[in-house]
Amino acid sequence: MAIHMTTPTVASDAFSTADQRVWLKLEALQPCGSFKLRGIGHACEVHAGRGAKRLLSSSGGNAGMAVAYAGKRLGLPVVVVVPETTREWPKTLIRRQGAEVIVHGTSWMEANEHLMSLRQPTDAFIHPFDDPLLWDGHASMIEEAATQMPRPDAVVLSVGGGGLMSGVLQGMHAVGWQDVPLVAAETIGADSLNASIAAGELVTLEGITSIATSLGARRVSERAFAWTKQHAVVATTVSDAEAVQACLTVAKEHRLIVEPACGAAVAAALKRSVPVLQHARHVLVILCGGACATYEDLQAWAG
Ligand SMILES: *Cc1c(COP(=O)(O)O)cnc(C)c1O
Repeated sequence: MAIHMTTPTVASDAFSTADQRVWLKLEALQPCGSFKLRGIGHACEVHAGRGAKRLLSSSGGNAGMAVAYAGKRLGLPVVVVVPETTREWPKTLIRRQGAEVIVHGTSWMEANEHLMSLRQPTDAFIHPFDDPLLWDGHASMIEEAATQMPRPDAVVLSVGGGGLMSGVLQGMHAVGWQDVPLVAAETIGADSLNASIAAGELVTLEGITSIATSLGARRVSERAFAWTKQHAVVATTVSDAEAVQACLTVAKEHRLIVEPACGAAVAAALKRSVPVLQHARHVLVILCGGACATYEDLQAWAG
C-alpha cells in the first residue's frame, strides 16, 4: 500500500465565480502536511525494496518531514541534517516522527556536506525535488484528480525546485491533459523558474529573499526547465504579502493552514494573474500544503 493518502478534489464555493469553477486538490491533508509525501514516500519505498538500511535528508522542511514519516512507516532509521537557521517547529515535527535531527553549519550547503560525510553505502539519500522517483510519486495526484473532476482549462501550482511541477506535468500527460496550460507561481524573491524563463537558460539566484522558504531553491532542476519547452507553462509571481493573504483566506474559507509557498498558487489563481486564467471555466489549484508555518506565523507575517 502506498505511503501517501488519496486526497479529495473539492469544488471551492468560496473561490468560484459565475464564470469559473475553482477546484482544490487537497494535498494539505497528507499526514505530514504536504504533497511531498507522494514522491518521497514512493522514493523511500523503492530504496527500501533495493535494500537501503537508512534514509538521509538535508531538508529542514516538508521534504525532511516526509522522509521521516516514510522511514517510520518502512521501519528504517532516518537522519536529517539541517543548518542552524532552521526554525524550531519543523525540527520538532521531524523529531516527532522518530528521525534523528543533526544541526550543522550556517547554510544548507554546509548541512548537506556534513550529511554526505556521514553517508554509508547502504544509505539512501532522498533529494527534495530532483529525482524521477519523486516525479512518479507526485504524478499520482493528477491520476486521482482526473477521476474526481471535469477536465480543467488550467492547472495552477507553486514552484520551488520544480519537483511538484515535473510530477504534475508527467501526470497531466499520462491522463490526456497534455494541452491544458500550467500556471507556475513563485513568490518574488524565490522566483528561480521565472528568472530562467526570462533568461532563456537555467539561472541560479544569488539568494532567497521571500518568506516562502519552501520555494527557496536558488535553481530549478534541469527537468523542470526542460518542461517549459514541452508544455504550455505560464510562469507568474506574487508578492509575499499576497501569498500570506491567500493563506489566511484558505484558513477562513476552507479551514486549512497552509504555508505561503502554497498560498502563492492560490493567490495567482484568485487574482487570475495570467490570461489563461481569465477565461478558464474549470481551474485546478494544487493546494500543496506545508507544515512549517503555524497560524500564528501567518498572522505575524500579515502584520
Ligand atoms: C516543496 C514545496 C513546494 C515546492 O515544491 P518543488 O518540488 O520544490 O517545486 C511548494 N510548497 C510546499 C508546501 C512545499 O513543501
